[in-house]
Amino acid sequence: MKIDILRIGQRLVRDDRVTTHVALVARAFGASKIFMNEVNPEIKDTLNRVNKSWGSNFQIEFIEDWRSLLKSKRKDFKIVHLTMYGENINDAEDKLRKEDKILIVVGAEKVPRDVYDRADYNIAIGNQPHSEISALAVLLDRMQNGKQFNAKYDNARLQIIPTKKGKQVIEKNDWLNREPDVG
Ligand code: SAM
Repeated sequence: MKIDILRIGQRLVRDDRVTTHVALVARAFGASKIFMNEVNPEIKDTLNRVNKSWGSNFQIEFIEDWRSLLKSKRKDFKIVHLTMYGENINDAEDKLRKEDKILIVVGAEKVPRDVYDRADYNIAIGNQPHSEISALAVLLDRMQNGKQFNAKYDNARLQIIPTKKGKQVIEKNDWLNREPDVG
């Protein structure tokens, strides 16, 4: 499944951190790309640094006009708008998993009415207000059933060896020279 994200309505300064976290979640939970207005150009550097250290080819594309992006994406992608007013994820997850290409729209301030109309699915992660970061994480997890957490990246410089206590991180070169685990 190919998953892209569209972030709309980001407010200057106030939403910088949240938008960065939306992008980090998108990357870590298996999306390919995020589109957003160029409100804070530093987000691109932050995500490029994360890609360089931890791998993946996650992309950020700055756009001028999110409505024209939505229009062009509609040809190939199903549009999934995250909103607390939508259909409960528990009732919609099966059909979402059958889709091939999805563009997920996440808001910041009040989302204009036409987004609700243009979306193929308006999806609520519960019908209570919370956050676009948590809503995106839960949606991506439900759609992929946790498979995104098994991803390994060939282009990673660093890789974490999961441990019950402490921290174990290896450099890619160490990893290439490592004896295979036996047993
Ligand atoms: N008041 C705004 C509105 O009327 O659209 C929403 C603001 S909310 C802080 C920002 C974004 O978080 C929303 O646009 C939506 O994408 C997401 N969000 C918040 N709660 C959600 C929920 N229960 N289900 C799905 N998305 C949610």
